[in-house]
Parts: sequence; C-alpha cells; structure tokens
Amino acid sequence: MKIKVARCAGFCFGVKRAINIAEGALRGLKDGEKIYSLGALIHNPQVVEELFKKGLRVAARPEKIKSGTVIISSHGAPAEVLEEIKKKKVQLIDATCPFVKYAQNIVRKLKKDGYRIIIVGDSAHPEVRALNSIAGKSKRSKKLGIISQTTQSKVNYIKEIQKILNKDFSEVKIFNTICSDTSKRQSATRGLLKDCDLMIVIGGKNSANTKRLWQICKESGVDSFHIETEPELKKGWFKGKSCIGITSGASTPDSMVKKIIERIRRF
Ligand code: SF4
Repeated sequence: MKIKVARCAGFCFGVKRAINIAEGALRGLKDGEKIYSLGALIHNPQVVEELFKKGLRVAARPEKIKSGTVIISSHGAPAEVLEEIKKKKVQLIDATCPFVKYAQNIVRKLKKDGYRIIIVGDSAHPEVRALNSIAGKSKRSKKLGIISQTTQSKVNYIKEIQKILNKDFSEVKIFNTICSDTSKRQSATRGLLKDCDLMIVIGGKNSANTKRLWQICKESGVDSFHIETEPELKKGWFKGKSCIGITSGASTPDSMVKKIIERIRRF
C-alpha cells in the first residue's frame, strides 16, 4: 500500500503567523495577566488546546473580556466587535492574516465607490462575518463587486460568479481573493486524486479550508474520510486499497500528519 502526501501539508503562512504572534504574547505573560483570543485563534481544536495549556484563553464574545490582552484571530473580526474592544481597557493584538486583510480592503474600496458587494462564502464563518460587517447593508446599485472567502474552491467561486452574471447590472468587478495557499492545497489534492483510491483529509472539523478539501475529494468519487486525529482511523477503510492520499488543512500541524501516517503504516 503506497502513501502519497500532498505537496502542501502543514500550517499555512497565516496560521503560522497567528500562532507565532500568540506564542510571543504568551512568553511575555505577567502574573495575573490574561490573554484571550477572540474566538478560536485558528480552526484546529488540538492546537487551540495546546495554546490554552500555555495560557491563551478563548473568549467567544467581547463582553466576556474585562481586562488584559485580546488577540484577533487569523480570520479577522467584525467591525462592530473591534469597536467594542477598542472601548475597553485592553491591549489589542491583530493576528488577522494579510490575505484576509487584503479582501477586507477590497470591500472597503468597493463600498466607498458605491458598488453592491457580493461575498461568496460561508456566511456563518468568522472571516465572512467580518467582511459582511465592513460591507454593511447591501446597496441598490447596478455596479457589482464580487469577492470570495479566502478559502473557497475556485470551481465553486466560478459557478457562483456565473449565476451572478445572469443578474441585471451595468458594471461588474470580480476579485480573486482566494489565497495562494488555498489554491495550491486544492490543486495538490486534485493531483493525488488521479493516483489514489482512498483519501484521508486531516484537519479541524470546524476548518472551512479542510472541509473544502474533503468536498473536493468526495466530489471526485474517491473514498474519502475527514479526521482530526489518529484514533479516528479505521482499519477497514484501507482493505483492498493500493494508494492512500494524505492531504491536510491550513491549520493542521505537520506533527499530526506524521502521527497519522505512522498509524496507517502499522495497519
Ligand atoms: S488559509 Fe490563506 S487566508 Fe487563511 S490563514 Fe492561511 S494563508 Fe491566510
């Protein structure tokens, strides 16, 4: 049984950066001081648990925070939430991924220029909620500006754009805000699908980009499983399979990918 690992495995740039920022802040933690991330810093429960052991608390909402330091997650935060935090006596550290910031700046510019803004993505995801908060109420305008959640699949984005182009408009601006790491991970996964008869997708069950990789695998018809940790593996999945493809989300540590490969080799 061959095991092939996607070229882009392990943390992406934005996740690495957010973890480095949090670990730097935790190293300077003084007695009695509290450091919070607003929502999960990244969408990987095992990594969030490790950071919790080092002292990083997760606050779901700003009302929960009275003092200390607040780190904005790699996904960014809605404008009204940032305003609420700024009114408190807390130190604010922004770990928003620069690719997410880029998308936010496009939304600001489109809004200023009077475009109706369409964001293609999961409306419940923190990144999209933040983008929506910047866009504000939808304008009645014949000028459309379309952007995507940074972790969308290009195929989905193009499908949605085609639907939008059937609407009535006088001008349309389309931005490719899918981050380069997401594109590379998705194409590396598609590459594995050509050779493999079983795919293991590793990453947080709450991770948008991991779920997207799993969706790509399932749509291909190749047997595919999405797991976070090695105890979830089942021996029966591998029966009769000749090539196992391993791909992982942007917030999955290399160490977890290695553990899972070692466990598969022992079956
Ligand atoms: S997946 Fe892309 S946008 Fe999201 S944190 Fe990583 S580099 Fe940034």
